[in-house]
Amino acid sequence: MLRVKDCLKDGLGRPITYLRASITEQCNLSCIYCRPRTGAPSPTGSPAMSRNEVVALVRLFTQLGIRKVRLTGGEPMLRKDLEIIVAMIAPEVDGRVHLTTNGMHLASRARGLHDAGLLGVNISLDAAERDSFRRLTQKDGFSRVMAGIHGARAAGLKTKLNAVVMRGWNDDQIVPLARLAVAEGFQVRFIEFMPYKHNGWDVDQFLPAEEILRRVQEGLGVELQEEPTVNLEEGPARIFAVPGSSGKVGVISTLSACFCERCNRVRLTSRGEMKACLFGNASVDLLEPLRNHASPEDLTRLVRQAMHEKLDCHPMRHGDQPMLSRGMWQVGG
Ligand code: SAM
Repeated sequence: MLRVKDCLKDGLGRPITYLRASITEQCNLSCIYCRPRTGAPSPTGSPAMSRNEVVALVRLFTQLGIRKVRLTGGEPMLRKDLEIIVAMIAPEVDGRVHLTTNGMHLASRARGLHDAGLLGVNISLDAAERDSFRRLTQKDGFSRVMAGIHGARAAGLKTKLNAVVMRGWNDDQIVPLARLAVAEGFQVRFIEFMPYKHNGWDVDQFLPAEEILRRVQEGLGVELQEEPTVNLEEGPARIFAVPGSSGKVGVISTLSACFCERCNRVRLTSRGEMKACLFGNASVDLLEPLRNHASPEDLTRLVRQAMHEKLDCHPMRHGDQPMLSRGMWQVGG
């Protein structure tokens, strides 16, 4: 049994309780905010980690006090063994396993994932209209994703929607997405467009959370009511109730009002590297030592050392560029 004082903390004493693990860098969409736009190689690599390696590295973290795991990618549903991975991880975190997916394959697999032990799913939906969806993702998949969203809810999965907002690309979708939340009682969280490796980030395309909220209020003609933060594991979003509806709207203001002082996260890339900060810190390879039969003590030492050096805040807060060696499709967002 892990003593509280031995739980994973970073050098500033922030408790680290949430692991995001990317389990493949392959993806079936080419979202404009994620994919390389500067001639870099396309994200087509194969899964680097076997199922047992994923589970072994997740277990390394759960034994250090991680209480919630999110599987991401690339597109994690491209892995045929996702249900098995979920079933193997769920007991490690008392069932707190979540998935971030584009939802393209969710309609047919939601029930099986639920039965394997998946608790919740965040589905990326950056547009509420078919043509806009196609422009953003390079695929005519809107109906499939909507079927996936409904399938997830019907299967009993906690279902939230995520939309990255880019001025000039899908800011016209803010109000339609908020209307979808109201009409169907979903929680839609709008994410500020973040700069990442080769994704062509540009300040002209950036839309701050306050402007997103203002547009929702004007578009719906309501005063949003902010809800209190329940606990850290619920994530960094500010959530707002929409009066007269069970739908909710949230914003994730990574750049305009960063929440690094509350950061409780650690990331595992699809190549088995740990990242202490999404936007900074060199990654630390855990996969090679695992493959070379490093002892649990040695792996733990690597994790604790890297965590000790976690940045206090992402570099963009001070106007600097992020330090990135991997794309978002490899780190998992
Ligand atoms: N394929 C899955 C999906 O579409 O949700 C999981 C991978 S995706 C990299 C994980 C999360 O990162 C998604 O919520 C996505 O919206 C977010 N994301 C990717 N690039 C981003 C960017 N440049 N700015 C903000 N969020 C981003």
